[in-house]
Amino acid sequence: TARKRFGQNFLTDSNIINRIVSAIAPDNDHIMVEIGPGLAALTEPAAESIDRLIVIELDRDLVERLQRHPMLKDKLEIHQGDALQFDFKQLLRDGKKLKVFGNLPYNISTPLMFHLFSFAEHISNMHFMLQKEVVLRLSAAPGSKAYGRLTVMAQYYCQVVPVLEVPPESFTPPPKVDSAVVRLVPYEQRPWPCQDIKLLESITATAFNMRRKTLRNNLKQLLSDEDFSSLGIDAGLRPEQISVSQYVAMANYLYNKRI
Ligand code: SAM
Repeated sequence: TARKRFGQNFLTDSNIINRIVSAIAPDNDHIMVEIGPGLAALTEPAAESIDRLIVIELDRDLVERLQRHPMLKDKLEIHQGDALQFDFKQLLRDGKKLKVFGNLPYNISTPLMFHLFSFAEHISNMHFMLQKEVVLRLSAAPGSKAYGRLTVMAQYYCQVVPVLEVPPESFTPPPKVDSAVVRLVPYEQRPWPCQDIKLLESITATAFNMRRKTLRNNLKQLLSDEDFSSLGIDAGLRPEQISVSQYVAMANYLYNKRI
């Protein structure tokens, strides 16, 4: 039976499963990593065409089942533990990059994506099942309601491509929300390089602190009207009206002013 505290909603719709695995396109040229394999709904078809699949699963009972799985036991490298704490660098070998995928427990999806962004240079792409609302936030354009802190950070690291929407009936038990699969492709060359990512994170978090307030108001501890005019950014705008490149410009400006 599914465990609520582990965010267990198992995929049972074979049509959806096939479409997700085609989007992932597992191959032997990458180190394939699944987060939260559960009852192996994605694991089995993903492992079919490859030699080795690494899985990270928190639930010990599910890990035991995976260890006994007749078709998979020779192909799987199982790590029992919390993906949020996992050092993905330890998986690197033979100069290959990682491809990461999973139908994520929705309660940890945002911190998990932030954790994975810190390994972005080692990741070729990621495919995740998320709440549809989170996919809308990841892929939002400036000026829209969904545009926020998560959008800026995700689009700083990655190209974001919504892949497919998935209704609650495709899972057992059905989640209370609509779901969607997203592809995140970390940039090899970031279009707007940032000199201090921690600073970008804190500026973005501070700017979106009060969505209805202007940049001037939200960022008054960090940037003056003069700073905004040297940056060529209208301080009277609201945080969702500022592009990713402008957020990076603010972070770099502050970084250079401080040193
Ligand atoms: N992949 C399966 C599927 O699609 O049917 C299961 C998906 S279920 C939404 C999420 C899975 O992640 C569960 O197997 C759960 O035990 C596991 N999980 C929950 N928290 C985790 C964590 N912090 N680290 C690794 N796995 C976790």
